[in-house]
Amino acid sequence: MKDGSGGFNGVERRGLMFVLSSPSGAGKTTLSRMLVDEAPGLTMSVSATTRPRRPGEVDGRDYYFVDRPKFDAMVEADEFLEWAHVFDNCYGTPRAPVEAALAAGRDVLFDIDWQGTQQLRSRASNDVVSVFILPPSVQDLEHRLHTRAQDSDEVIRGRMKKAGDEMSHFDAYDYIVVNDNIGVAFESVKAILRAEQLKRERQIGIEAFVRDMRRQLEK
Ligand code: 5GP
Repeated sequence: MKDGSGGFNGVERRGLMFVLSSPSGAGKTTLSRMLVDEAPGLTMSVSATTRPRRPGEVDGRDYYFVDRPKFDAMVEADEFLEWAHVFDNCYGTPRAPVEAALAAGRDVLFDIDWQGTQQLRSRASNDVVSVFILPPSVQDLEHRLHTRAQDSDEVIRGRMKKAGDEMSHFDAYDYIVVNDNIGVAFESVKAILRAEQLKRERQIGIEAFVRDMRRQLEK
């Protein structure tokens, strides 16, 4: 990877699984898009879901929209890395693209809920970095859900109620970012990703790289 964290002189980097979770309306989708646009080598995991497509959403980009029998068949065939029921619908992370990206040393970004984060962690705890995004206030959350205008009032009421449940899991996350200002929140999330990429244990071959330099210096 030509980003200063491997990819030179035999130093490769282990890809990491970067998870963003939040109650819906806290700005996580916007942050994910900004991150994918800017971070080199970051692949977004596209989930499968049984929930209906919202206006503006594109099949294969935002989600793979599937019906319940198809989803159940994917569960049966062990095609998901993790899956969960969220808001009366099923959501799951297709396994194959994630495994291919990680094997190629790429980082993968996940926009999944706390249940999925827990499942990923139980499978690959060393490679999961999790960030929980919080809204600055309940009023702000409600305002964002309304201005997004993608859901009916009834759905929004349901989401507000569920936001409290989702927030109760904040303590299972590595990092917490309060999204009061999208630019500042983005810088924070980017800084977390960068620092985690540079962790010594993720830089495969760094010992040999340093050993070789020391050998040269001792000559
Ligand atoms: P939405 O319907 O607003 O797109 O997403 C609802 C919730 O489902 C969000 O909290 C989102 O993070 C979560 N979600 C989306 N995809 C997945 C997935 O593949 N697995 C899990 N566990 N949660 C997901």
